[in-house]
Amino acid sequence: MFRTRLIWRLYPWFLAVTLLAVVAAMVYFSREFRAFYRGQLRDELKAVAGVAAPEVARALGHGPAEVDTLCKRFGRAGNDQLRFTVVTSAGRVLGDSQENPTLMDNHSDRAEIQAAFRSGYGESIRFSPTLGGEMLYVAIPVPEGDASRTAIRVAVFANAMEEVIAQMRTHILWAGLVIVACVAILSLLISRSISQPIVSMRRIARLFAGGQLNVRVPAAGATELDDLAKALNEMATQLGDRIVTITRQRSELETILSSMIEGVLAVDSSGYIVSINNAAAELLGVDPAWARGRSVEEVVRNVGLQQFVRDTLVSDKPTEGDISFPGAGERFFHVQGACLMHARGERAGAVIVLSDMTRVHRLENLRRDFVANVSHELKTPVTSIQGFAEALQEGGVTDAEQTRRYVSIIAKHAQRLNAIIDDLLSLSRLEDGSERRAISFENHKLKEVLQAAIDLSAIKAEAKQMKVNFVCPEDVTASVNAPLLEQAVVNLIDNAVKYSEPGTPIEIHVDSGQEEVAIRVKDAGCGIAAEHLSRVFERFYVVDKSRSRKLGGTGLGLAIVKHIAQVHGGHVTVESTPGKGSTFTMHLPRR
Ligand code: ADP
Repeated sequence: MFRTRLIWRLYPWFLAVTLLAVVAAMVYFSREFRAFYRGQLRDELKAVAGVAAPEVARALGHGPAEVDTLCKRFGRAGNDQLRFTVVTSAGRVLGDSQENPTLMDNHSDRAEIQAAFRSGYGESIRFSPTLGGEMLYVAIPVPEGDASRTAIRVAVFANAMEEVIAQMRTHILWAGLVIVACVAILSLLISRSISQPIVSMRRIARLFAGGQLNVRVPAAGATELDDLAKALNEMATQLGDRIVTITRQRSELETILSSMIEGVLAVDSSGYIVSINNAAAELLGVDPAWARGRSVEEVVRNVGLQQFVRDTLVSDKPTEGDISFPGAGERFFHVQGACLMHARGERAGAVIVLSDMTRVHRLENLRRDFVANVSHELKTPVTSIQGFAEALQEGGVTDAEQTRRYVSIIAKHAQRLNAIIDDLLSLSRLEDGSERRAISFENHKLKEVLQAAIDLSAIKAEAKQMKVNFVCPEDVTASVNAPLLEQAVVNLIDNAVKYSEPGTPIEIHVDSGQEEVAIRVKDAGCGIAAEHLSRVFERFYVVDKSRSRKLGGTGLGLAIVKHIAQVHGGHVTVESTPGKGSTFTMHLPRR
């Protein structure tokens, strides 16, 4: 559609209407004026004819020459502006103010003459061939007793009248032009006053559209425009409120999404990422800002997850599955998907939630390994006990010496079972949350607690001629559970004894720092190869199975040490050089 400014739609119409009114007024006035002027002229001519008629009647008594002289006198009296003609009923011209009547043709066919004799008055406008111009003729009969045999006709040039009308028309035209000019200026001002507020509303509406909602449309004066301004302002206020609400909800949603441990991924129906939270981005190893707007195939390198997203996009029901992310530290995820719907009910995409199950998976594995290990560890002594007990039961063993040997084997395995069960119980107590909370801590002089542990291990150390060198400042105290710390240190000394050659020394040093107290147990034993170091604190992990079993180890000692350090809020470390010895250090925080 042809687009113009509002002012140019109003203004030409104003002008056109004004021009039309002026032209119509001109036409109307000039017509009315002509009719009025003609009527006036006609009345004047009629009056002149009425005044001249008695004179003509008198002159008729003196013959046609006298009539003609009278006509010429009348003509001169009127400066030859008027023409006087006397005509008989037969059409013969008796006298004329401007012509010689004898030369003039018969006038019986003239309409005004015919009407004058017929009805006492006649008039006509027509071209006069005699005078060569448009004339207005008025004729009346000349009263002569009862009947009229002659008529007097007074005529005037119609162009004199037309000149006056033209003059009048010029005046009207000028007046019209002045009116048009005034109306043009006025209508321009009016058009502007109408379009200006609308233009300013348009400007402010554009500001609203650009997000500048603090400006307001001023009142425009007219009720309709004021209402419109009010409506626009209300719209801006509501829009502002809604934007605030939406922004708040959005930031709440973003906060929730970004603080979620679960990875959340939203894709549109074509598989392009619409939203991705920090957890998902971290898991996929991408930058969230980079990932947005890219396809799942480009962002997600995991084939299983790609397929899962595709399946969710075409599924009518929520989807679920397990996906692993292979790599150095393999991770396991439980994925749930649901399709996103538009308000109109169309499919808009899908949302995928990734829950990290790596820990659960690892715990599950640990639990499975633990059960297998425990069963295995328990099975060996139980099988031996059962075997030797059955042999004794069957009565085949008669030799007292052999019987004693069998019984002592059964006792040794029972002891081992007991040791394993004791260690398992200790561990389960340390791992049990409520038991852990029940553990009490008191400030103890470390020297006393550690000395007690050394004393407990003394028999084993002496059996291998090993000397324990203990260095601990007298005043070092720590908030500890004395029996547990004692057990941990006993385990470390026992190991040092077990895995060292007879006669080698054991060093126990306590270093007191600002933040923590370090208890070091150092031996000069066989040491541990680097590849085992990270695993020796695991339950049932032993470097050399047969050696450990021969030495009465359960594979649980260091796991217990680790847990004891942990219940004290600390941790345990190991440094070792195969063939040279190991140093286990318990780091306990000062509290
Ligand atoms: P175990 O009852 O078999 O000694 P631990 O949990 O106490 O079980 O120790 C786990 C493994 O760590 C042991 O089998 C042993 O191989 C190794 N180990 C522990 N302490 C020492 C040490 N002081 N010197 C060398 N190896 C050690």
